[in-house]
Amino acid sequence: MKRPDGRKPEDLRPMEAKVGVIENATGSAMFRIGNTIAIAGVYGPREMHPKRLEDPEKSVIKCYYDMYSFSVPERKRPGPDRRSIELSMVIRNALEPAILTKEFPKSGIDIFVSIIQADAGTRCAAITAASMALADAGIPMKDLVCAVACGNVRDTAVADLNKEEEDVELTTDIPIAYMPRAKKITLLQADGDLTAERFKEALKLGIQGCEQIYELQKKALREKYQVSGEMIEDKD
Ligand code: UDP
Repeated sequence: MKRPDGRKPEDLRPMEAKVGVIENATGSAMFRIGNTIAIAGVYGPREMHPKRLEDPEKSVIKCYYDMYSFSVPERKRPGPDRRSIELSMVIRNALEPAILTKEFPKSGIDIFVSIIQADAGTRCAAITAASMALADAGIPMKDLVCAVACGNVRDTAVADLNKEEEDVELTTDIPIAYMPRAKKITLLQADGDLTAERFKEALKLGIQGCEQIYELQKKALREKYQVSGEMIEDKD
């Protein structure tokens, strides 16, 4: 099957990742996949406000997802809406399993993700960027989290749907977030019907895609933390 931009079913769009893009954040990162661009900033661990929300056992993770008005062809009304509130929760839940929250009891970790350009797959790009930003903030984690949307378009399983593919009638979009070392899925959604066979194929492409994204995340982190010309050793 020929995809609108000429990709093979398993191909991801061209990607770019950079760590350390916001001076005032504890950690930050940018991730681009095709025409979707996410910028993430992590603040903390820091004192919880209001104090009554602190947890004596662990750090409380909060996530704020925002898609800019100018990020889409038809201007989006600025500010939070139902979609951004839901996506903030989904992104937070996909990241939390990787974070060693018990290391910082009574504190809060705030994750802000801004989508400055959107061409589908923004929740996944947000997770990928936020995970690098958490690592950049020095927050102990079990694993990085990488994410990509796969799905079923015209009865073919494909990886990394763009907006044109997402808009095809009867397309099923399946965002996946994955911890590659633990081999655990931390987000799995599906917004339509598909056969068990197509689902398995899409899932396989999604995990393969996440593994490619993981390599890019590690490369971006190494680029920032390169010490006097030598790469930090990969302990895989
Ligand atoms: N979108 C848009 N306007 C909006 C919301 C979404 O144009 O107000 C587009 C945008 O390209 C987004 C895509 O629709 O990436 C799919 O949105 P969805 O809610 O499925 O989440 P995503 O795929 O971005 O995680």
